[in-house]
Amino acid sequence: MEIQRVFVKADGTAVIKCHSCGAVKNVDTRRLPSIKHVLKVQCDCKEIFPVRFEFRMSYRKDTNLLGVYRKIMNGQAGQAISAKNKANCNVENISMHGARFKVMGGHFIKEGDPLSLGFQLDDGKDSWIQKTGVVRTVVDKYIGIEFDEPANEHRALGFYLMP
Ligand SMILES: [Zn+2]
Repeated sequence: MEIQRVFVKADGTAVIKCHSCGAVKNVDTRRLPSIKHVLKVQCDCKEIFPVRFEFRMSYRKDTNLLGVYRKIMNGQAGQAISAKNKANCNVENISMHGARFKVMGGHFIKEGDPLSLGFQLDDGKDSWIQKTGVVRTVVDKYIGIEFDEPANEHRALGFYLMP
């Protein structure tokens, strides 16, 4: 079945239209427990169809957060990183789709590398976030990654990024 692309507006709401009965539903994505790239939704008419939420929000929050990055080797899933790991980077900004961080010391990161990035939010709760993503830009010590899943997959991070 074709995946319906649903655009999430700046206020976090999105309009989903059922292709079977034509019903239109307004969804507040911030109330969903998590937003994967593809989600199956069920209409009142019982039709079940896949939708993909797409975020046009270009909002990018400037941050100053200690972080821990690790390359993901041999296609293995990213290992868990905790706040106890020694920081090796500083996360300088975060958006719905990615982040930029500055490496402390040297590095061998290349564009296309998969990596895990952990960081503690200064949100008053010290929420620990770990994201996996792919390196899109490398400029000297500055690394830009694109997240595999949008930021608000983590509720705490989703709230943190609200303008
Ligand atoms: Zn329907």
